[in-house]
Amino acid sequence: MTIQLPNLPFDVASLSPFISAETLAFHHGKHHATYVKNTNDLIVNTPLADKSLKDIILISAADTVLTPVFNNAAQCFNHEFYWKSLSPLKQDIPEILAKMIIRDFGSVADFKHALHQAATSKFGSGWCWLTLNKEGELQILTTGNADTPLTKPDLKPLLCIDVWEHAYYLDYQNRRTDYLWAVIDNLLNWQFATENLTD
Ligand code: MN
Repeated sequence: MTIQLPNLPFDVASLSPFISAETLAFHHGKHHATYVKNTNDLIVNTPLADKSLKDIILISAADTVLTPVFNNAAQCFNHEFYWKSLSPLKQDIPEILAKMIIRDFGSVADFKHALHQAATSKFGSGWCWLTLNKEGELQILTTGNADTPLTKPDLKPLLCIDVWEHAYYLDYQNRRTDYLWAVIDNLLNWQFATENLTD
């Protein structure tokens, strides 16, 4: 099986002014595309070549010899999940998810601050996730570099935000905090997160 670069699930200009078409063209067309190419180059003619992306990630996560495979394959999954976590149309949080947010974080505003705080304070490159834990509670998680909740069977990812500099540098330079408020306040795909509760 060859890993494919999925199309963006929205028009490249549709997240502007929060994320520019230029950022998305580089981020999807260069960064994500390179992770896809690297993964395919690394697995060709190996036992991983006929595995699904998820299996490639789980197998390579368990074997340090395969760390380069893991880094590229996990970034393929993380980026596809990130594109799905963004919506060009500002969305209300569906009631079922809003109730869980209020139960677990006190209020939607407190939750957004907690998400922003976690993502802002992630040192270096990585990701910020909203996950559902085994107890059915919402949990914010940050992961470093390519690390992904796919390798944590107790956590189901609902949404993610890319906090690598390449996600925001063309638009915001060093102002990660502004990028994060723009995403959290305007772009998060709450419908996608809600669908993931029961997937
Ligand atoms: Mn990225």
